[in-house]
Amino acid sequence: MKRFVSLLAFGALSGGLAWSQPTTINAQTTTKATTTTKKTTSKKKTAKHHYLLVMGHGAGDPGARGNGTSEAVYLRNHLMPHLAKYAKKIKKSNVTIYNPSHNIVRDTLVFHKGSYKIKKSTTVIMFHLDASTSAYAHSGHVIIHQRKPTARDVRLRKVIKQYVGLNPAYNGYSFRTNLRNCNVLRKRGIDYSLIETGFITNKADFKHLNKNLDKIAKGYVEAIANEKIK
Ligand SMILES: [Zn+2]
Repeated sequence: MKRFVSLLAFGALSGGLAWSQPTTINAQTTTKATTTTKKTTSKKKTAKHHYLLVMGHGAGDPGARGNGTSEAVYLRNHLMPHLAKYAKKIKKSNVTIYNPSHNIVRDTLVFHKGSYKIKKSTTVIMFHLDASTSAYAHSGHVIIHQRKPTARDVRLRKVIKQYVGLNPAYNGYSFRTNLRNCNVLRKRGIDYSLIETGFITNKADFKHLNKNLDKIAKGYVEAIANEKIK
């Protein structure tokens, strides 16, 4: 394009109609030649892996309550915008968020949609906050879908440990098979993790959450997608 423009400018100077036409043809031939020699070894593109982030509860189910808020509200109004911001920066995979006006458990167990309709190749990450009648119960853990944590679970645990602290009862991981929505995923062979970032009922956890919300979200998205965000 550059060459074509400079030739035209020269043409305007010398006022030559006679050669402005051949120049155009020349430029076209050159472009054609390069395109045909190029595209013979184009590889078939493989689809990017899909990670689905799910905010717990919602659609009328507040989840746990504490520190003047509820799980459903805190996850959607505070954590989710930060997660969405970093999800957009991931290049090697697709990170999306489950419709926040829905409650995946209800979609699954009441309407036979939700976890029943998720593609088998999708990885599901569910976000929750823990609760206890004891104000002292504190810190977070990852609920895992196999006896051994996956590499992703190890990365997620690190984020919780760094910004909130690990629940001493679990030392970071809990393998559970009594969560009905999760069991639908398990039976369908879908990879998932459920994150309890901390106790909504604990003052110190709530403080750590609010203070580190952006770093936590960035850490989580990086851990999930296994990609550094610049
Ligand atoms: Zn919950």
